[in-house]
Amino acid sequence: MKKSIAISNKIFKEALNIIPYGSQTYSKGVKAFSDGVCPKYLHRGKGCEVWDVDGNRYIDYVMGNQPLILGYSDPDVNKAIIKQLNLGSTFSVSNKLEVDVAKLFVKYIPDADGVRFGKNGADATSIAVRLSRAITKRDHIAFCGYHGWHDWFIGTTDLNSGIPKFNNQLAHSFSYNNITSLEKIFSKHKNKIACVIMEPITVNGPISKPSGSTKWKNFNNKDNFLIDVKNLCKKNGALLVFDEVVTGFRYDMGGAQKMFDVIPDLSCWAKAMSNGVPISAITGKWEYIKYLEKTFFSFTYGGDCIGLAAAKATIHKMNKNNVIDHLYKVGGELKKGLNDLISIYQLNDYFECVGYPCRSIFKINEVGKYNKPLISKTLIQQELIYNGILWSQYHSISYSHKSIHIKKTLEAFEKAFKKFKNIVSKNKKIENYLDGKPCETVFTRVSDFQSVATSQKK
Ligand code: PMP
Repeated sequence: MKKSIAISNKIFKEALNIIPYGSQTYSKGVKAFSDGVCPKYLHRGKGCEVWDVDGNRYIDYVMGNQPLILGYSDPDVNKAIIKQLNLGSTFSVSNKLEVDVAKLFVKYIPDADGVRFGKNGADATSIAVRLSRAITKRDHIAFCGYHGWHDWFIGTTDLNSGIPKFNNQLAHSFSYNNITSLEKIFSKHKNKIACVIMEPITVNGPISKPSGSTKWKNFNNKDNFLIDVKNLCKKNGALLVFDEVVTGFRYDMGGAQKMFDVIPDLSCWAKAMSNGVPISAITGKWEYIKYLEKTFFSFTYGGDCIGLAAAKATIHKMNKNNVIDHLYKVGGELKKGLNDLISIYQLNDYFECVGYPCRSIFKINEVGKYNKPLISKTLIQQELIYNGILWSQYHSISYSHKSIHIKKTLEAFEKAFKKFKNIVSKNKKIENYLDGKPCETVFTRVSDFQSVATSQKK
């Protein structure tokens, strides 16, 4: 059923006069959520459900852009935060919580001999690049995936206004599971690459051979893309940095580096580490991380105790309750259920649910002239919204998503697929069935290999 979003729309109208784009995060705004159909303002959340300002209730698969690994308003995390609020949030010298959380990182994260904390994921990726440049005394970097809003990454996209051109000359993008694309960068910029910074998993994991199957099942522990990348870094004197902002505390307690037993020199953490309270971290081998004594990384809220208290409570609960096992189990039910429905409705040419069950992606192919992926996404999103599901093409499973929510979600998808099938089998234009504006990509990367996957994540 169509939702009334009158209050959302009224607030948005006011916002547009005083808040450019009307949102603080591109992927929380009207580019990602169809204007006219989706809620623009959420009022509260509990577990995996959210309520918008008009009082509509949804099962959420976006989960605040992925950090809510336990769920909204988790009682244990809330308790820890409230206790800390009563003691004080930010102090004039350091607080013991910094050491407590650093010890947890050293315990769980293979590369973590030492830790420093930031606030956003981009803090961690920025300092990882600066540190690599400081250690190697080189300026160029190679990257793969999305890494944040700072100059060196956004400079390589079409949203690069205000960024000096030289950034583009220093940052080089390579393609996941394509070692040749990285080899080319190393040979073109010989002895100039300070580090390779990459998401260790983009959608699927590393494959055994660059030109082999892309199925993550085929991953081989002794011979895979991540190992090839590590060897290439070593050979060329560059540091390997894993951006574990998405994979950390979601795919494995020790991140992708633990899953694949490929230990980088430095790595970056945020999102799931604190169930939605701002904090991030950089970890690394002592021989590298110790350079942070001399490489500037310092800000007022660096040791803010609210984020630290949330991180401590979140990591403890995840370990105690085997949260990651739950994510794979429930996420697996969703992934299988979706792919079964796609087959039943014979929509395999159009859709596939791919990636790891703890964070699967709804892949949309372009078929025929009317089925542009963003238009198809908008239609599926619209039908899901009308059936109480908040969705933006990926499934950020949390500990609060239970089988009952998956069942309701699959029922909603079935209705959406029926409608979609009906439209395409009559060769009709999907646009004519949209009640709101089509979704848009946030940005496209110049010489992009994975623009769709990355732009959905921002
Ligand atoms: N790295 C990755 C892999 C991310 O997905 C993101 C954000 N989506 C970032 C870094 C940047 O994190 P933040 O938005 O917290 O700065």
